[in-house]
Amino acid sequence: MTVARIMKDKGHTVVTTPPHCTLKEIVDILAAKRIGAIMVTDDVKTIKGIISERDIVRALANGGASALDDSVSLHMTRNVVTCTSHDHISHVMAEMTRGRFRHMPVVDAGILTGIVSIGDVVKIRIEETEAESRSLREYIQMGT
Ligand code: AMP
Repeated sequence: MTVARIMKDKGHTVVTTPPHCTLKEIVDILAAKRIGAIMVTDDVKTIKGIISERDIVRALANGGASALDDSVSLHMTRNVVTCTSHDHISHVMAEMTRGRFRHMPVVDAGILTGIVSIGDVVKIRIEETEAESRSLREYIQMGT
């Protein structure tokens, strides 16, 4: 199964922010949208980084509450690992495990077309496993 299957269910909406936004603004967006990470992009939607709730916790631990006035570009991760909609979900799982992160933007032909979270990956894997065991049960019952 590929990333395109996840996109089919969840759509292509990606929450983005410009690099000059403050961490306080990011906290408000994360809370309002009930998400864990936001893509940081420039005017033409080129990926500049990713900021997740973990980056904000680290910024607060290191700098105290005043870190909320910092711009997102000071705390984002710049080397973003991306996938394409043609990648297999097992590849995304392996990359998330290797890199110890829970979000992966989907980039097709240089354009940001979606974002996959670990929750999306786990959901689709559970559905896949359930479908497999259902068809195995049906197969076994046919032979009895
Ligand atoms: P997360 O588990 O996604 O909340 O992120 C944990 C850390 O990894 C944070 O420092 C994020 O900025 C970073 N991160 C999240 N997603 C990615 C990604 N796709 N590529 C590189 N770093 C990431």
